[in-house]
Amino acid sequence: MSDVLKPLLPGSTLGVLGGGQLGRMWAHTAQRMGFLTAVLDPDAQSPAGLVSHRHIHTDYLNPAGLKQLAAVCQAVTTEFENVPAGALAQLAATLSVSPAASAVAVAQDRAREKAHFVNCGVPVAPHAVIDTPAQLADLLAVTANAAQADTLLPGILKTSRMGYDGKGQLRVATRDELNAGWAKLGQVPCVLEKMLPLASECSVIVARGRDGAMVNLPVQRNLHRDGILAVTEVFAGNVPEALAQQAITAAKAVAQALSYVGVLCVEFFVLANSAQEGQLVVNEIAPRPHNSGHYSQDACDVSQFELQVRTMADLPLTQPRQHSPAFMLNLLGDLWFKQSGSEPNSLQTEPAWHQVLALPGTHLHLYGKREARMGRKMGHLNITAATPEAARAVALQAAAILGIAPF
Ligand code: ATP
Ligand code: MG
Repeated sequence: MSDVLKPLLPGSTLGVLGGGQLGRMWAHTAQRMGFLTAVLDPDAQSPAGLVSHRHIHTDYLNPAGLKQLAAVCQAVTTEFENVPAGALAQLAATLSVSPAASAVAVAQDRAREKAHFVNCGVPVAPHAVIDTPAQLADLLAVTANAAQADTLLPGILKTSRMGYDGKGQLRVATRDELNAGWAKLGQVPCVLEKMLPLASECSVIVARGRDGAMVNLPVQRNLHRDGILAVTEVFAGNVPEALAQQAITAAKAVAQALSYVGVLCVEFFVLANSAQEGQLVVNEIAPRPHNSGHYSQDACDVSQFELQVRTMADLPLTQPRQHSPAFMLNLLGDLWFKQSGSEPNSLQTEPAWHQVLALPGTHLHLYGKREARMGRKMGHLNITAATPEAARAVALQAAAILGIAPF
């Protein structure tokens, strides 16, 4: 680490914009390391606010709230990418903010994000930007029997901003559906992406310090259901070694080119059944810890949340070591409405945690959300074991108890 960086030592107060589960797990980690924490979130019952030393509940753009946060903290980070850039900019005037507003702005906008990937020489899905009716008309204009749009259909129309967990996305198979889809999304700026045949999905978490030092967690293999992460599996050989190296190199290049400071997750597609079978295509970035990195809490000697604390406090980064093969099961609100194998019922019942915790190597993380709703992320279950096979066997048993479909 360079001599010019003066680290913030335990006893300092670290702040976060956003009070969701990512902020909560960050706060737990920062507190374990001896820091005080402050959370700014409008919700008085936010998961992170409930466990933090300070909880400022104002809007993200409330000048008084931001001033209060700046007054109590020595450094600030964010736990969700849709935090208004103006908030980060106001805080950066008086204290250390990581990641910078400029990097978060790229992650907030799919079109800018894709342009950044192209600049980094990392392959992206074929796509077109639709910001205006004229751009859509151009795409739909038929020349020599085909429209430019046809090369991207069937595709997925995604709003450029504010999407998460598959929200703000529509599948469109024809020109008519594309036309109707853009209207349905409110004619907001969108990106039309070609639907790619996926062999699998994976992601990489990198952490980059202010001095440029970079470390990474191992490549995570991810299973999504209905556009939401369902299962992550991480162990040597979860993806072919050459692909893993390619993903890590690409993730580091993306972070480097943003002069990024903090924890960054880069999500990838691995292509199937095509001329480019096995090729890696970058999907998107998250400027913060990510759901697919949660296994690191129990399977690695340094978790993604500790990496976040270290980067924001200018503490040294050491390369994390995964000590156990791991599976992570997302615990969505749906599980509160069904028992094993049955159809969802309307009554909310607590899942059988006692049965899950009877299985070896299970680590339960619940986010303290009061109300379960379908599709809402309520918690996750990490499973660690001596071998990938043993971890998978326990993960499948836990899934059966909870009513999660096998994988
Ligand atoms: P999150 O923020 O939870 O990661 P999101 O709303 O930003 O999700 P994406 O990551 O763009 O959404 O897409 C969600 C999922 O939909 C992907 O993980 C993938 O399974 C599927 N998907 C998205 N784009 C494509 C594509 N071009 N081809 C095939 N599948 C896709
Ligand atoms: Mg995604």
